[in-house]
Amino acid sequence: MPIVEAPALWVIATPIGNLADISKRAVEVMSAVDCIVAEDTRHSRILMTALAINKPMLSLHEHNELQRIPQLLEKARAGEVLGLISDAGTPLISDPGFKLVQAFHQADLNVSPVPGACAAIAALSVAGLPSNRFHFEGFLPAKIKARQKRLQLLSSCTETMIFYESPKRLLGTLEMLSEIFGAERMACQCRELTKRFETVNQGTLSELAAYVSADADQQRGEQVLLVSGSDPTVAGDGIDSVTRGLFLDLCQMLPPGRAAALLAKHLGVSRKMLYQLHNQQK
Ligand code: SAM
Repeated sequence: MPIVEAPALWVIATPIGNLADISKRAVEVMSAVDCIVAEDTRHSRILMTALAINKPMLSLHEHNELQRIPQLLEKARAGEVLGLISDAGTPLISDPGFKLVQAFHQADLNVSPVPGACAAIAALSVAGLPSNRFHFEGFLPAKIKARQKRLQLLSSCTETMIFYESPKRLLGTLEMLSEIFGAERMACQCRELTKRFETVNQGTLSELAAYVSADADQQRGEQVLLVSGSDPTVAGDGIDSVTRGLFLDLCQMLPPGRAAALLAKHLGVSRKMLYQLHNQQK
């Protein structure tokens, strides 16, 4: 195997839909480890069977990650080599594993990646939006108010933003994005990447919302939504994301007029723009 030294933990990417995207190295490493640590062992057993790999498996998901760590550290200290996989794509990217990897670092145990598919990067590579710098947001909060607040904070982000979205929330999110970021902001919907019904649709936020609303099929399957960053050369509301967050938090404690007056006095932000921001929140 072309590796320098076997680590205690391999973090292994698996396909996001098309089994042929598994790398040769991922198969070699999964065949060589002592134990596969998987988000959902039943789900991953299907992949392992397809690859003709039979290994002991342990689950590691958001509800048991902390409890599982001592057992996995013990195995690694006893010389076992572990392989971490998630249901699809790259572990830790909107998937469990961060606390485990952190614990291995703290225990001075080596961690090494086996890179491969990741829906966010696959989507960015075909979206036709600026890709040198990007902001990976992952899943937005499910609650409407929290989602609005998060998008308000992001509306001045100048980098391409990448969202993971559930199909049932896609249309609502496109409409909310259109309202908060402006209907003309360019975006791209990447659906079912690498699978049979793969679609890549680029357009303005309002065009995408209309397209998705008119075709129920577009509201099915796995979705990545990418939105172009705000253009810093175009005069926006002139309120940066930190000030925006501070103002919205202050509005929870003070009347909006008082909050706007305080920020106008201390930070020189336009009171009028702050009022507008507050009105958009209602
Ligand atoms: N760790 C994974 C990765 O590397 O992309 C992501 C896991 S996250 C729990 C699952 C989300 O990723 C889905 O809800 C969807 O937003 C996105 N996703 C995964 N596979 C996809 C695909 N084939 N096409 C489009 N989006 C996908």
